[in-house]
Amino acid sequence: MSDSVSLSLRDVHLAFGRHQVLRGVDLDVARGATACVIGPSGSGKSTLLRTVNRLLEPDRGDVLLDGRSVLRDDPDALRQRVGMVFQQFNLFPHMSVLRNITLALRRIRKLGEDEAAAVAREHLDRVGLAAKADARPAHLSGGQQQRVAIARALAMQPQVMLFDEATSALDPELVKGVLALMADLSAQGMTMVVVTHEMGFAREVADTVAFMDAGVVLEAGPPAAIFEAAQHPRLRRFLSQVL
Ligand code: ADP
Ligand code: MG
Repeated sequence: MSDSVSLSLRDVHLAFGRHQVLRGVDLDVARGATACVIGPSGSGKSTLLRTVNRLLEPDRGDVLLDGRSVLRDDPDALRQRVGMVFQQFNLFPHMSVLRNITLALRRIRKLGEDEAAAVAREHLDRVGLAAKADARPAHLSGGQQQRVAIARALAMQPQVMLFDEATSALDPELVKGVLALMADLSAQGMTMVVVTHEMGFAREVADTVAFMDAGVVLEAGPPAAIFEAAQHPRLRRFLSQVL
């Protein structure tokens, strides 16, 4: 992925009313690297991701793509550069799989119908679901639906991909296929931030693992440093609970 970018969060603060949720988040993801964000529920992981594509605006601090702040960019243009995949796949139930993908291609990338369909089919093929183009989402397994959601995001040619617990809603036997697709994407050089409870994935795929606790990245480093030589007692306690 030749046009992927680096991503940095610098001292990002965000409050919901009086509830301070992000308290100075720093995170660096090199161009083409994968960062996995781990940490307890409520620590601010989803909020952090949402500041990157400006579904939420930080109160203080900065978000940089290739060293340039995104905070003054047009949010729609930014969301084209930054793809996001959620725990709930958010596919439109009344549309075919193909149309779920062509919709944004036509509206946002302004492709014509035939070209949009061709791009959509190419991305469905990439996630192994070319045969499902005409199906309704409800007729697919959860794992297949999530792969469609990933294909939909990739069809926009993003420079960064964000995954928010993309496998948490899946039946256990469907998790592997989605993780394998994410690992492929990482290996192909997509810049990715992956919020996950899948410690095996973090250990094997991440370049950086960031541990979030109470609104800050408390410790970050290569998987070996995090999983075998954690410094912070809170991280050690978290790992003892999840591993
Ligand atoms: P995580 O993804 O790590 O579980 P979140 O980022 O979802 O954590 O949430 C962090 C904190 O912010 C939680 O206490 C949550 O209740 C709160 N929060 C998240 N979104 C909102 C919102 N839209 N309004 C108010 N509080 C929110
Ligand atoms: Mg979350």
